[in-house]
Amino acid sequence: MTKGLHDRWTIKEVLRWTTDYFKQKEIDAPRLTAELLLARVLKTNRLHLYLNYDQPLTPPELAAFKGLIKRRLAHEPLAYILGEHPFWSLSFKVTPATLIPRPETELVVETGLNIIRDKNISAPYILDWGTGSGIIAICLAKEIPLAKIFATDISLNALKVAWENIRRHQVEVHLLQSPDLTIFKPGSFDLILSNPPYIKTAVISTLAPEVKDYEPRSALDGGEDGLKYIRYLLKHTPTYLKTEGWLVMEIGYDQKEAVERIVSSLSCWLPPAFFKDHAGHNRVVAVKKKHG
Ligand code: GLN
Repeated sequence: MTKGLHDRWTIKEVLRWTTDYFKQKEIDAPRLTAELLLARVLKTNRLHLYLNYDQPLTPPELAAFKGLIKRRLAHEPLAYILGEHPFWSLSFKVTPATLIPRPETELVVETGLNIIRDKNISAPYILDWGTGSGIIAICLAKEIPLAKIFATDISLNALKVAWENIRRHQVEVHLLQSPDLTIFKPGSFDLILSNPPYIKTAVISTLAPEVKDYEPRSALDGGEDGLKYIRYLLKHTPTYLKTEGWLVMEIGYDQKEAVERIVSSLSCWLPPAFFKDHAGHNRVVAVKKKHG
């Protein structure tokens, strides 16, 4: 498969060859992928590759690089091969136990942050439900140093990754393993955020192999209509929010109307606000709990 790579190739030649190969195989971002994989093998960064363009690769380096190329060609996501992924200008550890952070989820963080800043609470109580790698909770902890932040997940393996990310970024986040909200005292939170699983069960098999074969199904599968956890959170978070507390959730690109219907069927929320992602999809919903 990677026979075309010869011994004694320089960094420059190897990158050119691999970029063309990835292009041919329709791998996303071929040049960047080649650079990141080679930088990983050489235990360095992309800049170093450019500064050492004429350095030849040793046979063990070449062999290791070929191994990574094969993994990517088998559709293993780049983030799992590298073991980390950027989000909110930080780098997070990711493993196959956790969803890979998506840029859309930054809108969840931004929306939550705006709510806390508008409310002007210096030490808010915040919950990230279904934290996965911990990205939402950790970014908020970085941005609101006095916040009391809790994060739950059903998966212990995901929580281990979140724990490592908490240590990596030196923030305080309280992790709890739980499938629901019942471990908390009613009326605890100023803000609850979540990027819940929201893909219809039947749609998962149609997704890219990178997603359907590698990312944790439990982080994607939102049940038959994709709304299982969104409905759960809309129904149950009011109990755990303070009066005028907010729920902020990421939703599927086509779920705005369904979310509006669920919200209006419940008497505890003010009308929802939706926020669009870069592709113009309504991606985040924010709802405020009514007075009394
Ligand atoms: N909160 C994590 C994220 O946004 C995990 C979400 C999930 O597993 N559905 O990436």
